[in-house]
Amino acid sequence: MSRIAMKTPLVEMDGDEMTRIIWQLIKDKLITPFVDLKSEYYDLGLEERERTADAVTVEAAEATKRLGVAVKCATITPNAARVEEYNLSEMWKSPNGTIRAILDGTVFRAPIVVKGIEPYVAAWTKPITIARHAYGDVYRNCELTIDGPGKVELVYTAADGTETRALIHEFTGQGIVQGVHNLDASIEGFARSCFNFALDTKQDLWFGAKDTISKTYDHRFKDIFQEIFDAEYAERFAKTGIEYFYTLIDDIVARVMRSEGGFIWACKNYDGDVMSDMVSTAFGSLAMMTSVLVSPDGYYEYEAAHGTVQRHYYKHLAGEETSTNSVATIFAWSGALRKRGELDELPELVGFADRLEQATLATIEAGEMTGDLVAITSIPNPTKLSTEAFIDAIASRL
Ligand code: NAP
Ligand code: MG
Repeated sequence: MSRIAMKTPLVEMDGDEMTRIIWQLIKDKLITPFVDLKSEYYDLGLEERERTADAVTVEAAEATKRLGVAVKCATITPNAARVEEYNLSEMWKSPNGTIRAILDGTVFRAPIVVKGIEPYVAAWTKPITIARHAYGDVYRNCELTIDGPGKVELVYTAADGTETRALIHEFTGQGIVQGVHNLDASIEGFARSCFNFALDTKQDLWFGAKDTISKTYDHRFKDIFQEIFDAEYAERFAKTGIEYFYTLIDDIVARVMRSEGGFIWACKNYDGDVMSDMVSTAFGSLAMMTSVLVSPDGYYEYEAAHGTVQRHYYKHLAGEETSTNSVATIFAWSGALRKRGELDELPELVGFADRLEQATLATIEAGEMTGDLVAITSIPNPTKLSTEAFIDAIASRL
């Protein structure tokens, strides 16, 4: 059989632990038998990050800017325990954080909908994609404890020394205070990423904030989205037959619960943090979720939403059989290959990505799945497969 050719290489970012094992199985059994894979390989495994003083992470992100599409394996974000376990010279930063800081942009997460794994919200028959702004607000806050009576003000000192002041509160007793910020440039990037992704996936875009209460801060988000939409996107949305819709965050939440899904929900940073956990839980499992970082410059990085599944890895090291769900990692590969195929005008590669996803879903729908899904499926008498046997079952369908 002749294999499908590629033009531009993918940026391939390998990772850690159980997902590193899954990564190799996917390549060997699901990709390279069918595709003449072209990739620029970066090993983001913790040992290589230590050896290169984390330079490899920066190189991988720079390569993504050059080549446009990346696929990333889950990686360890070191904590004190990992510093000891891997004998690290430094507690290296989160690779995802480093990559996001270089590429900028918005993370889109959508559940992978499959028959037999029913969402807890019965009306949700189509996926709901959460687009989370990843800069500022409470994640870059500044906080103080107020110990007693006194005045708290916001003070802005302009470059020329002029001061603008606003009273926050005259305290008569103890209390707390918090300052947060955001940047027009970051909100503009967030808006463009959302509009581009809506056009890419032909889905409506919903956005909600609290502009009635936060008349300057949240209102700025609303205004920037509307200005960019009117100036740059309204026509293309109309042509594609999709809508941009803004309303209060409370109203959005109520509408989401009543909806059938099938749209993108743009969330401010905190709303996205909280609501993505709600949506992913309602749809079943973190291992049944796609995740892609879309930069305002049009770079794409596909990944799984879950971590390196450390507990399963230690079982694997102890020689025990594991049943780790590879669906999110498979969809990271199919997403990246499809995007590469679209950009390079390779319909065969796009078609392969579709078939890889169909074979994965057909395997689950036939009752062959990993343990995490066996526990929640409505399919009678499912078969629990090992990590490798599940990938073999997909390969035989492919
Ligand atoms: P995790 O790897 O997501 O796993 C937490 C638990 O969720 C697992 O023990 C397992 O539950 C279940 N699970 C997650 N993915 C699964 C899958 N594919 N198949 C079956 N079950 C799955 O989170 P963690 O254990 O907290 O973190 C491990 C490492 O991952 C950490 O070092 C962290 O820094 C890193 N991490 C990386 C990323 C990323 O690179 N994107 C994201 C998050 C965390 P059971 O044990 O009950 O089976
Ligand atoms: Mg959260």
